[in-house]
Amino acid sequence: NTVPSITLNDGHTIPQLGFGVFKVDPAETERIVTDALEVGYRHLDTAKVYGNEAGVGKAIADSGIARDELFVTTKLWNDDQGTQSALDAFDRSLEQLGLDHVDLYLIHWPSPKKDRYVESWKALEQIQASGRARSIGVSNFLVPHLEKLLANTDVVPAVNQIELHPAHQQPAVTAFAREHGIHIEAWGPLGQGKYPLFEAEAVTGAASAHGKTPAQVVIRWHLQTGNIVFPKSNRRERMAENFDVLDFSLTDAEVAAITALEREGRVSAHPDEVE
Ligand code: NAD
Repeated sequence: NTVPSITLNDGHTIPQLGFGVFKVDPAETERIVTDALEVGYRHLDTAKVYGNEAGVGKAIADSGIARDELFVTTKLWNDDQGTQSALDAFDRSLEQLGLDHVDLYLIHWPSPKKDRYVESWKALEQIQASGRARSIGVSNFLVPHLEKLLANTDVVPAVNQIELHPAHQQPAVTAFAREHGIHIEAWGPLGQGKYPLFEAEAVTGAASAHGKTPAQVVIRWHLQTGNIVFPKSNRRERMAENFDVLDFSLTDAEVAAITALEREGRVSAHPDEVE
């Protein structure tokens, strides 16, 4: 029952199930991430703008877990897009984390009105060439943003991290990504608790059939549809629940019934609107 590993388009591997720390209080982050590592998570997803990279770094340092057993992602914040500003922001993130490299560095949002994501991506290409980010990718990129990036740069992003859960599956972005060898990371995999996903019949039915919770069924749906996920919880028992999804499989019919919950139900900001 080990976490499946996915091979990215640059040859590096990523654990398909991890732990995200959006909205984790910086003062609590070291404890919460320590819990997550004890539960068994080895893939951590943070960002400069979360303000908690230092806590993530402390938990890693205290854990005694070998660096090469961990997969750490952080992200370039919108205000830092550019060339030198991106290089500097990356250095600060590494410093906060107390690491000499990250496994994955992402452009957090395209911020298309700024129109600096192509330039920023070239800075990420330099960072990857230096070895300090093993893989590089993007987040919240829609098809037009990806098209422009691919037309103007050399390295194809390893991942695109987007809002994705049963009510909002972004078929256009995922099809484009698949065609170009870009893996999808699903953020808000549980819909951020913002709609009654756990009450949908497709979810509750599968949960009782397998003796699992609705959250476990939804995480399992992500894994079986190929998404990389890192559900967030501050509570250790829920961290353990969300990690305990490797000993059962949904049937094809159960997967299809959850996939049928699509309703273009974005729960967070539209990427074109985030500056
Ligand atoms: P999520 O879908 O993981 O939802 C988290 C919430 O779901 C928790 O706060 C809790 O209320 C609830 N929950 C968690 N486990 C549960 C369980 N077992 N039973 C019942 N309720 C449960 O949302 P998220 O945290 O926004 O997304 C996961 C991660 O994705 C983030 O922590 C972050 O790392 C990343 N993320 C990235 C972006 C981006 O723009 N790139 C945006 C948002 C999140």
